[in-house]
Amino acid sequence: MLTGTHILFIGGDARQLEVIRKCIELDATVDLCGYENLDSGFLGSGKIELLPESLAKYDVIVLPVSGTDEKGYVESIFTSDPIQLKDSHFTYLKKRLSIYTGIASDYLRNVCNKFQIPLIPLMERNDIAIYNSIPTVEGTLMMAIQNTDFTIHRSNCMVLGLGRVGMSLARALHALGALVTVVVRKSEDVARVYEMGLNPLEIQDLKMHVSDMDILFNTIPHKVITADIIANLKPSALIIDLASKPGGCDFRFAEKRGIKAILAPGLPGIVAPKTAGQIIANTLVRLLMENNGNRREGLS
Ligand code: NAP
Repeated sequence: MLTGTHILFIGGDARQLEVIRKCIELDATVDLCGYENLDSGFLGSGKIELLPESLAKYDVIVLPVSGTDEKGYVESIFTSDPIQLKDSHFTYLKKRLSIYTGIASDYLRNVCNKFQIPLIPLMERNDIAIYNSIPTVEGTLMMAIQNTDFTIHRSNCMVLGLGRVGMSLARALHALGALVTVVVRKSEDVARVYEMGLNPLEIQDLKMHVSDMDILFNTIPHKVITADIIANLKPSALIIDLASKPGGCDFRFAEKRGIKAILAPGLPGIVAPKTAGQIIANTLVRLLMENNGNRREGLS
């Protein structure tokens, strides 16, 4: 249980509602900042304004998946007012407070470092990234289906990268009957792709093997689908770029060649916000409960 833990949620989207719900269920004391337009409030939670001195009572602050931008602004779809975290807020925080965020901007890392506040970027965790690959893959399949006039079954699909998303995606495409090639750079990944019954391709050989591909799915967060690769694609090929912004594709050149290339960020929050929220909630409350246990042991 989270009895006695005072949590402040600052900003968020539909995913954060699941996290808030779970914390309240576990008896945390919850306040919300940036939720003025939320129609149905949560029973037992309070709404506060972001005044520096009002932050002194919290044990935990939870920021949305996007964290803050480089000026400390926090996004919330539940308010039209800007929310900005400044140094003045951090000076009032409890010594033992922790901040949980999805991703951590340089601003957030620097300010937490300056005030010696533990910062936990949840999206950097392997477990969350693997769970999150499930809605990501469903969203990717949805985009592929919406943007083609042929079936995934028996189509030539190329997945670039065999990380958390690439592995789940390659497996799902294979299960749908696609002919899957996976582009990797490590010899152990070549072996893994072979073991999975798929076609491995080393990244340096990419250019020579793209000409018969129907769909390219990129998960590598570097510019890998360059102009010379795009020049070798057939005009009907589709590129779906999942890598974090700005993606790994030369979109300008793809457009010039008339090849459809789509940057598709944030799919879990778009196609399955409830599940995506539950993934975050489950991990967050486990960490909070572990933290509470450690704190109690430290006091005894
Ligand atoms: P990951 O587990 O780190 O996998 C990244 C893959 O890219 C690995 O196979 C890695 O190979 C490869 N790679 C990295 N740099 C490379 C390079 N220079 N050349 C060749 N291969 C390289 O990451 P992930 O969790 O799968 O996420 C992949 C991307 O998708 C990230 O940008 C993430 O932010 C994004 N993402 C997007 C969505 C969405 O909704 N669009 C959802 C979740 C994640 P090595 O193992 O050899 O390093």
